[in-house]
Amino acid sequence: MTHEEIHIPAGHGKAFTVRTGQCFELVDVEGQQVGDLTALASADRDEHVFLPVTRLALGRLQFVRGDSLLTNHRRPILRLENDIAGADILFGVCDRYRYEIDFGMRDYHRSCRDNFVEALAEFGVSERQAGIASDNGVNIFINQRLDEHGAFHLDPPRTKPGDAAVFTACLDAIVAISACPEDGSPCNGGNPTPMMVRLL
Ligand SMILES: [Zn+2]
Repeated sequence: MTHEEIHIPAGHGKAFTVRTGQCFELVDVEGQQVGDLTALASADRDEHVFLPVTRLALGRLQFVRGDSLLTNHRRPILRLENDIAGADILFGVCDRYRYEIDFGMRDYHRSCRDNFVEALAEFGVSERQAGIASDNGVNIFINQRLDEHGAFHLDPPRTKPGDAAVFTACLDAIVAISACPEDGSPCNGGNPTPMMVRLL
């Protein structure tokens, strides 16, 4: 059986639709690459992944195998099915100001937020709706931890080439993935690379 593959160039984003019960894999093609992910309900684009509700439902700050991302309507939308090298439901995603303000870059730099808006527009999602969903994006494969003092630490991802995160859709959904363009931190090992989605 062949599966549809969606190739995501380094630093870019793609969106796709999934049906309830359908699985997909997010593949870190070359290793040490973070994939940012968000999702909206196909039936109502004002229903989207919502991190405060997700954290409340989980009762912790980690997102691990068996956990679901919840929407602003407090319904599961995507469930993580396997053990992965890391995930973050705290940081949010990079935006153009991350590069302008945090990294002092003068020229425009791609960002996960802009990638989401661009990719979701192909499915008729408005910039406002895409922006809200982007602000609730999850960092898959990120190597981030909180220490005993509550301080964040960010190190290069531990993923190896071909490592994958497997998700099941709990709702008919539009999913957006960004191969994070961040090159000014250890987030992607300093070298953004491509990702792939395999629809199962
Ligand atoms: Zn990013």
